[in-house]
Amino acid sequence: MIIIVVIAAMQKGKGPAMPTQPIFEERHSPPRRRIRELFGADTYFSLVVFDDFVVAIYTEIRTRLGENQLPRMAAYLADHAPSQLQGQSLGGPVTNVIVGAARLVDIQESNGSAIATIEIESNLQAAGQGWYLREQWVLRRSLSAKSRSPEKARSFDCPSCGAPQGSVVGGRCNHCGQAVGNGAFDWAVVSAQIVEREQRGPMLTGNTVEQGTDRPTIVDAELNGRFADLRQRDPSFDDNAFQGRVNLVFTEFQTAWAVRDLAKMRPWFTDAFFGVQKYWVDEYLRQHLRNVTENARILRLEWARIESDGYFDAITVRIFATSLDYTLRDQDNQIVSGNRSNERVYSEYWTFIRGRDAKGPARVDKNCPKCGAPLDLEMAGTCKYCRTHITTGTFDWVLSRIEQDDVYEG
Ligand SMILES: [Zn+2]
Ligand SMILES: [Zn+2]
Repeated sequence: MIIIVVIAAMQKGKGPAMPTQPIFEERHSPPRRRIRELFGADTYFSLVVFDDFVVAIYTEIRTRLGENQLPRMAAYLADHAPSQLQGQSLGGPVTNVIVGAARLVDIQESNGSAIATIEIESNLQAAGQGWYLREQWVLRRSLSAKSRSPEKARSFDCPSCGAPQGSVVGGRCNHCGQAVGNGAFDWAVVSAQIVEREQRGPMLTGNTVEQGTDRPTIVDAELNGRFADLRQRDPSFDDNAFQGRVNLVFTEFQTAWAVRDLAKMRPWFTDAFFGVQKYWVDEYLRQHLRNVTENARILRLEWARIESDGYFDAITVRIFATSLDYTLRDQDNQIVSGNRSNERVYSEYWTFIRGRDAKGPARVDKNCPKCGAPLDLEMAGTCKYCRTHITTGTFDWVLSRIEQDDVYEG
């Protein structure tokens, strides 16, 4: 087995100014591919929904634990997880849980169940104190259980009958009578370990060398076939419009990033990916630093992968881009890292998702796709005018992941 080092910045989608301490070692195999294969017969298993669910269950469990209400999540806890978690109290109510990264690092099959290992980095407030946590969680789910729909990704009702949270006592639902807290009906946490717990945030001012930009693009063997399928389902899909949208999202993101403006980023990201960006923007604000990517532009774009499940289409493109990249401190606008005169060329894999039922060329305007008002969203992703949740992919392509060259595995 080749052991590679995963860089903390991998999901950040930025470069030199990002924290770079290696944190977890990972076996060199692509778990995201293996989980898709494992659930291959289930068209309703969606990695997009799974990613969203992981963030939700983590947030819910950490919050419930802080309220001394962990038993309310009994339907989603198995084996030693409840006792393990009970020993991890952070001394009071937990609020503002923000997940900066949640990476699937291993997936196994055992006795008809999938066992998923996930590494999570988060920031939260407990009893008035800020904490940075690195954790390793293991979740188990029967392969024959019914997969969640996107609407249910963040719900913690009884996984068998839908009775409200709290209906499950001692592992059994008092509404439907089923034994549910074991992964038979849905994912259950079987282990939750805190790897590291700190009060200090990640270091934001290191200079690192870009790795892997000159590597050939990892193009999925089925790309052309899946492109043909996508065009057949949506004859009005337009390459140029899609690339136009990638460009728009890129530009809006870089501009907003440089001024730490979360509201400007909000319309273009899935909810889970927005959480990742919020984690970093909050951290820059807290450390009184500003990372500027000046004159950022895409030089070239290559298609890498198209993936479809029962709910979403996902397109991964590799973008080659350049910009000045430096970090300033607020107090005097002095440069603390990066370079203000030489541009940095880099490449990243960007994955956009769109609901399967959405059709037509990608939009390149900045208006609400539902009501036409200028884009202005609540942080939850709803339009301030028409109250429609527009960041779900129902209307158009939204950015769900950014992966660096040295971690993207296809
Ligand atoms: Zn039930
Ligand atoms: Zn609207």
